[in-house]
Amino acid sequence: MKIVKVEAFPVSLPLKKPFTIALGTMTHSPHAVVRITTDEGVVGYGEASTWHVVYGYDQHELVWAIEQYLGPAVMGMDVSDIEAILARMDMVLPKNLMAKAGVEIACQDARTKALGAPLSQVIGGPLRYPIEAIEAIDIVPLEEASRMAAGYVENGFRYIKIKIGLDWKEDVERVRVVRETVGPEVQIRVDGNQGYDRASAMKACQVMEQFELQWIEQPLPDWDLEGLALLAEALWTPIAVDESIYGIHDVYKVVKAKAADVINIKVPKCGGISPSLKIAHAAVSMGVPCFLGGCIETGVGAAAALQFGACAPNLVKGVELIGSGAFTDDIITEPLITDHGMFSLPQKTGIGVEVDEAKLERYSKGKTKYPKKGGGL
Ligand SMILES: [Mg+2]
Repeated sequence: MKIVKVEAFPVSLPLKKPFTIALGTMTHSPHAVVRITTDEGVVGYGEASTWHVVYGYDQHELVWAIEQYLGPAVMGMDVSDIEAILARMDMVLPKNLMAKAGVEIACQDARTKALGAPLSQVIGGPLRYPIEAIEAIDIVPLEEASRMAAGYVENGFRYIKIKIGLDWKEDVERVRVVRETVGPEVQIRVDGNQGYDRASAMKACQVMEQFELQWIEQPLPDWDLEGLALLAEALWTPIAVDESIYGIHDVYKVVKAKAADVINIKVPKCGGISPSLKIAHAAVSMGVPCFLGGCIETGVGAAAALQFGACAPNLVKGVELIGSGAFTDDIITEPLITDHGMFSLPQKTGIGVEVDEAKLERYSKGKTKYPKKGGGL
């Protein structure tokens, strides 16, 4: 079943409210949705999710990379030859794992639709189902953080993520008020998005030990493995890494440096389903658990991530696919929703969801496909 067409759509979905982290504020979640067509008429969808302030690519660069380099490179290949497709993409364009993830997920969707099976059944079979979800509190005033936390618990969530990393004293108070609101049974994890320097990270993390956090994620810049190791040594609260992990080789570097106790795998960040599974297995071999992070994906990206999340061998509970609840609309026909804080695993063939073509058109209509002259390439 040969690939005959690769298309990329710059889709931006509006959020119900702005989402602020240490690196910036998002009002629309930017994606490149990929549609691959085979010579037998099977259509697969994938998603390259990004946020340029975190990952260094905006959605137009992803669309450009897919339509100019990755798409032509995989044209005519068998859509089931996932490893050969990954190798071909690496040959024509180094790095840019997010763009490659969009193509890889679309191929995974198409090949498993053709097999008549959900993706999870083809990549090892689901280990866990349904899957516990988290909700997130971004950098907001204390009263709002408390109100959000109470609402999440009322809706059945038992895992909450709090964004930190701008002002460590304010962060401590936000975490304190959320812990006081939700009580001791709810798991709280915090994420600094590289926002601290070593001194403020050490102070913030030491004060936060009293809140019995599930872990403290990426308090320091991605490159500062030595600083992360100092924190991991000094604290009993586990240290998690996110921006320090993209590929399988990063797992070895991070674990060897003793820089993390737990690893954040995001399917778009890590290059797709197959590369994410490799990272999970590499972490298993070094005795380090992982968790499923998110890039505020649309229903397409979230469905693909759930298929991976059901099958990865060493995932800690609490998947971070908050896009479904954060958007005012989605591009799939039946939105993914959480019931009492749990995601069901989509059971249709492929990644398990159907794309609403009219909405795909609407949310990408009129958008500049590529950067304007001098616009970043
Ligand atoms: Mg993170």
